[in-house]
Amino acid sequence: MSKRDYYEVLGIQRNASDEEIKKAYRRMAMKYHPDRNTGDSNSEESFKEVKEAYEVLSDSRKRAAYDQFGHSATEGGFGGGGPGMGGMNFSDIFGDIFGDIFGGGRAGPQRGSDLRYNLDISLENAVTGSTVELTIPTLAACKECHGSGARKGASPVTCKDCQGYGQVRMQQGFFSVQQTCPTCRGKGKLILDPCGECRGKGRQRQNKKLSVKIPPGVDTGDRIRLGGEGEAGEAGAPPGDLYVQINVKQHSIFERDGTNLLCEVPISFTIAALGGELDVPTLNGRVKLKIPAETQSAKVFRLRGMGVPPVRGGTSGDLLCKVTVETPVNLTAKQRELLKEFESTISADNAHNPKSSSWFDRVKKFFEEMKF
Ligand SMILES: [Zn+2]
Ligand SMILES: [Zn+2]
Repeated sequence: MSKRDYYEVLGIQRNASDEEIKKAYRRMAMKYHPDRNTGDSNSEESFKEVKEAYEVLSDSRKRAAYDQFGHSATEGGFGGGGPGMGGMNFSDIFGDIFGDIFGGGRAGPQRGSDLRYNLDISLENAVTGSTVELTIPTLAACKECHGSGARKGASPVTCKDCQGYGQVRMQQGFFSVQQTCPTCRGKGKLILDPCGECRGKGRQRQNKKLSVKIPPGVDTGDRIRLGGEGEAGEAGAPPGDLYVQINVKQHSIFERDGTNLLCEVPISFTIAALGGELDVPTLNGRVKLKIPAETQSAKVFRLRGMGVPPVRGGTSGDLLCKVTVETPVNLTAKQRELLKEFESTISADNAHNPKSSSWFDRVKKFFEEMKF
């Protein structure tokens, strides 16, 4: 039994709006609903037909495919991902829906797939920029036939059944439905004498070497597009694009926050108290950082312009050095003595401990309020 046209099934025009499709579906579904037509096998069939038509026409992608390729567009199901590297492959999705899975329906040779390459780079390379050599396993144009798929000296001939359009019109009920040409499977051309190297496909698996410029300032999540460096197209169709997905690796000293770099600097409690100078690392080398007397733990010193340049240009971010005052360990008896002596000179009041004095004041007030 040949399938009825979905628009005909729902009793609507081909240019019906989504709302009209929904209304028509409700009306037809009510009419043929099994609960209302118990035992009537004809209406059960009609109900299934209505449901199927609605499933396709209410989905804009499926509807577009159906409009273009007729029922052959909806045969089979959705498949898994196609070939490619490291995850999602954009034109594979497109290809699956309008191509292989829906019965090979496509007009003309297909553009090559986009590829994604996940690239891990060091923070140093991300900040200064670099050139990276990549080896990418991909489908490239066949070297023997230069992508045509035909044996040397021969060339593909135009398909007689579709005159090269890749589509043929079929009469279905009152409607004339466009379908993929079964002779050339939508390519519009036939290879009568296929290339031995690629078996007529025009493409071969190859490891392509590419040199990619990484601009200064890139960050994790940035994507560099290399137009035309994806998979070769079918039979001379345009190639896809290559997307290099950047991942900046963790650094042992610096943490990145946009264009700023954060760095933790441990200082001794005597330096913190008396002040001093110490060397701190930056991505451009050593820099002297002046620690003023009476520096508290967690104080952040800002070194302007020592961060990361924005990838789209502009002034660089800052290097933020956060000091941590260290408690001395492994003390000798002598050192212990000195510290005790030191403590005895300041324990009388909290004048030397700014945080403690204000903290004890607040605790005292809290106890009073709570009547502890
Ligand atoms: Zn070839
Ligand atoms: Zn054809």
